[in-house]
Amino acid sequence: MSNETNKKNFRDRRFATKLLHFGAEIDEQTGASSVPIFQASTFHHHDIFDPPQYDYSRSGNPTRQALEDYIALLEGGARGFAFASGMAAISTTFLLLSAGEHVIVTEDVYGGTYRLLTTILDRLGIESTFVDMTNFEEVKAALKPNTKAVFMETPSNPTLKITNIAETTSWAKEHGLLTLLDNTFMTPYHQRPIELGVDIVLHSATKFLGGHSDVLAGLAVTADEALGKRLKQLQNGMGTVLSAQESWLLMRGMKTLQMRMESSERSARRLAEWLSTHSEVTAVFYPGLSNHPGREIHEKQSLGYGAVVSFDVGSGERAKALLNKVQIPLVAVSLGAVESILSYPAMMSHAAMPKEIRLARGITDGLVRYSVGLEDIEDLIEDLDNALRP
Ligand SMILES: *Cc1c(COP(=O)(O)O)cnc(C)c1O
Repeated sequence: MSNETNKKNFRDRRFATKLLHFGAEIDEQTGASSVPIFQASTFHHHDIFDPPQYDYSRSGNPTRQALEDYIALLEGGARGFAFASGMAAISTTFLLLSAGEHVIVTEDVYGGTYRLLTTILDRLGIESTFVDMTNFEEVKAALKPNTKAVFMETPSNPTLKITNIAETTSWAKEHGLLTLLDNTFMTPYHQRPIELGVDIVLHSATKFLGGHSDVLAGLAVTADEALGKRLKQLQNGMGTVLSAQESWLLMRGMKTLQMRMESSERSARRLAEWLSTHSEVTAVFYPGLSNHPGREIHEKQSLGYGAVVSFDVGSGERAKALLNKVQIPLVAVSLGAVESILSYPAMMSHAAMPKEIRLARGITDGLVRYSVGLEDIEDLIEDLDNALRP
């Protein structure tokens, strides 16, 4: 079979198979069963008149390239890019905009993205308006003559609000706007935004894609080649690239993505149902619950509900007591790992947000976020039940 036919084949396969057979999983030269780590900053020019494919690792590295092709395949996009962190991916991508341009952003965007827009990009003349994207009228009303892009995050963090992706992208196209979507919570296993018209998908691969709380990385995938060329120029120009070692570690984690997501999601559904009936819990946020306002839209655009459940225990004091009492989950910033992680948005991921804005966005002092790992769900529930006792 020729190489050409091989390439065509792996693109047509189902998701679980693509995770393991993505085109670079066997080293062509040696037959090695994993992508080699090319720990080199530069590459020899054998013939100065015929420069090598790779010449300097900021501009291109074969290990990073394997990862970039891998994520492009999984998201169904044209080109993938790997960055030193999720924020490196997001900030580099925002530099597609220029001074004087405006972006519409979902109001309960990740805390770091909020900080980037309100303390760094604003100084460079890139303007942003935050809107409640569950209300499409607000999105439309935010359009200005200098609007160039729309930034979505769905489900949002940490209140798991749902944005209608296809409705937003078709409106954005009519107005010539670029659409960006942070797909960290869903991963391409549960949601493939490019199929719904999004131009660039972004990831904190530190979370579910890496999956083991041991690598910091970001990824971006462009829907088409032209945007890919522009993002490549920024990635190389800004130098925000992921190292070869980290690229390898991330691919190592990604191979089990489907199995991890399936198991964690099953447990998260059970946890959300259980929390909904608990007397010490005042509210539960999970798109899989029948009373979640965005459930119907979410089910149309996604293949699962994910593994993050947020819930409110009524007050900051109770939240802190809970965080000190739980014994199984890691109490930490972050999510999406093999081990469960319990975090406290008010003092962790959203600490940078002014209190009035935070409260207005439903991120109360009693809100905690549970990222469900691969432990036995009965143990997680028992542990939480003990910690919730007044
Ligand atoms: C963690 C996170 C980020 C930032 O990623 P880093 O890898 O920490 O830089 C961006 N978006 C979402 C939704 C996140 O959870």
